[in-house]
Amino acid sequence: MAEPIRYRSTRDPGQAVSFETALLQGLAPDGGLFLPEHVPSLPDDWRAAPSFAAMGDAVLGRWLGKELPAAARHRIVTEALDFPVPLVPLRGDGWEDVYVLELFHGPTLSFKDFGARTMARLMDHFLARRGGTLTILVATSGDTGSAVADGFAGLDRIDVVLLYPEGQVSPVQERQLIVRRPGVRAFAVQGTFDDCQRMVKEAFMDPGLRPYGLSSANSINIGRLLPQMLYYLWAVRAGGFEEAVCCVPSGNLGNLTGGVLAALGGLPVRRFIAAHNANDFFPRRLAGQAADFGPSVQTLSNAMDVGAPSNYERLRALLGEEGLRARIWGTSITDEATRASMRRVYAATGYVADPHTAVGLEGARRYRAAEGDGRPLVVLSTAHPAKFPEVVEATLGFTPEAPARLAAFWERETAVQPLAPTLAALREVVAA
Ligand SMILES: *Cc1c(COP(=O)(O)O)cnc(C)c1O
Repeated sequence: MAEPIRYRSTRDPGQAVSFETALLQGLAPDGGLFLPEHVPSLPDDWRAAPSFAAMGDAVLGRWLGKELPAAARHRIVTEALDFPVPLVPLRGDGWEDVYVLELFHGPTLSFKDFGARTMARLMDHFLARRGGTLTILVATSGDTGSAVADGFAGLDRIDVVLLYPEGQVSPVQERQLIVRRPGVRAFAVQGTFDDCQRMVKEAFMDPGLRPYGLSSANSINIGRLLPQMLYYLWAVRAGGFEEAVCCVPSGNLGNLTGGVLAALGGLPVRRFIAAHNANDFFPRRLAGQAADFGPSVQTLSNAMDVGAPSNYERLRALLGEEGLRARIWGTSITDEATRASMRRVYAATGYVADPHTAVGLEGARRYRAAEGDGRPLVVLSTAHPAKFPEVVEATLGFTPEAPARLAAFWERETAVQPLAPTLAALREVVAA
């Protein structure tokens, strides 16, 4: 087998580190993001794997082969990725050959369970081997926090500090964040998601906090991106597609980066569609317009309310400006168009989409209309509609049925504290 894959910062590519280091550090010391030196090709027989976990095991073996013993990898992948990943064909006029890839069958009902559950177990493995403990700092616009809290809860070597913008996540999202979990502390920050993300970045750069072994679980962590490649493969395999187009409801662009890594490894994806809400930095850049990172705008699809998508830096480093435009088609969808999308899809096909998935479905519809591309089109469904009962009710006129694992959150005890949107406030929390 080839040498282990090394990782370098997007900023100062000077020093290469192991996967273990990239995983446990999160952000590179120069503030850049870790990227693999090269992307390994998919195993020849990746389509033949009998299950999602078996496929994940084989594919991640190419990435982690030398650093992670096969038995540990097998156990981690099998435990973390133990829920179904259905590819649902839409049936209705105008939606021929469009498929919804449901990524919300994990414990916290969003696609973030894939990355968080896998990453938690990978970190725990390496910490057990080298000794030591970590504090994971997470800024969340909704779903990351609950997936990370759930994925990491109860691990002896890892504590979690969760920051979320007070009043800017849905009641169901908040409930999933603040249920009491061993080793997890939740804070409602008096600011925006961008404040939360800035506080986390500043904490990492703060020499005074170095002794606390801080790490991240945001999509800046490479350990979350690798498992996020796998469902793109699964969709192509499950559909038996020769080539597909994948539409990704996007915010911080971590999900899309997973897909791009899969494509660079050989997955036949003709084009990616980056479907954004009103936070339109990336679509504007793709259209060649001047656009800068800005403050985030609140929308119905709040887990995508990101004004400064971190993974843009990674995508640009992976593909270059030209490659970005060749491979990715972008669009920005207003709240009004998001609601119209939910209604249109429901009327034509009976499918109930959450607001994030509805942004994706509208992106897919616009792409087809603009490009006339009839290839199979896979829309990633990133959250279960029952996570957003208010929006579904107001838009479709009924409340989506909540799966039992969601209803159970309302029976648990909660614990949350307010926090000022400053590094000083966060310092006290970490040092406590
Ligand atoms: C996080 C999230 C997104 C955005 O994913 P990124 O990787 O940040 O682009 C989309 N939908 C839902 C439901 C999410 O939780």
